[in-house]
Amino acid sequence: MVDDSTNNNQLKVFFRKCLHFVSERIPSECPICEMPVSGRRLCCQCQQSIQPLKQHCFICAEPLFLGSPNYSIPKQLHTTTHQLCCGRCLKHPPAFDSTLVASLYQEPLVQLIKKLKFHENLGISPILGALLSQRISNAQQFDQLSLPQALVAVPLHKNRLHQRGYNQAELIARYLSKQLQIPLLKNAVIRVLNTHDQATFNLQQRMKNMKGAFKVLKDIPKHIAIVDDVITSGSTCHELSRMLKKSGAEIVDVYAVAKTPLNK
Ligand SMILES: [Zn+2]
Ligand SMILES: [Zn+2]
Repeated sequence: MVDDSTNNNQLKVFFRKCLHFVSERIPSECPICEMPVSGRRLCCQCQQSIQPLKQHCFICAEPLFLGSPNYSIPKQLHTTTHQLCCGRCLKHPPAFDSTLVASLYQEPLVQLIKKLKFHENLGISPILGALLSQRISNAQQFDQLSLPQALVAVPLHKNRLHQRGYNQAELIARYLSKQLQIPLLKNAVIRVLNTHDQATFNLQQRMKNMKGAFKVLKDIPKHIAIVDDVITSGSTCHELSRMLKKSGAEIVDVYAVAKTPLNK
């Protein structure tokens, strides 16, 4: 016997497939250069302009320009495996264990992220989600990345959520969850402090500013990944990871669309 919920699920899957089929065929334009494309996606040229980081710290994703002729590998760089670690993470390891980003926070990613974050262009979230999920799938295939048991989006404070109407990190996390078949933990973490804009703060001030910002409401699986749009100092993810580890997590990875380098 087939119950109502099975029928409902089959119907949902059918409609989703229909919607996908139709949306893939609707002529649209690349959100960066406005070239005609089919479906919601970037044109090939814009897609290719967003390159993954070649050499970066595996913990915080800070780019390491080892190929430069003026650069020799400093002693503090840990190079016993394929994984490089920057001096900062070696001295003061953050509470998260690794970071994977789609690319650096530079054009054209900057304008895509701003369109999603500040201009209510929600159609950008699957584009950013696809860039990140591609990067994760590649790392899984080529670098033996082990996928987490669950995802959690960096939460916004309820005042900020009310102002914006949506959490851009959660939209990206929802896309990743579907693509990678990893459950997204909803309402597992809340932001209890409405932290100030951190743009003018130095690293220590950022860390201090974030302390006590999150509260975890559920038990957390052993291996989890935090999803965010942009990572700068990592202080937000550090504080969130610290709280997740207090609630049962042993490994916390960070997945973000873009990384703003600290040493520009
Ligand atoms: Zn384009
Ligand atoms: Zn690092």
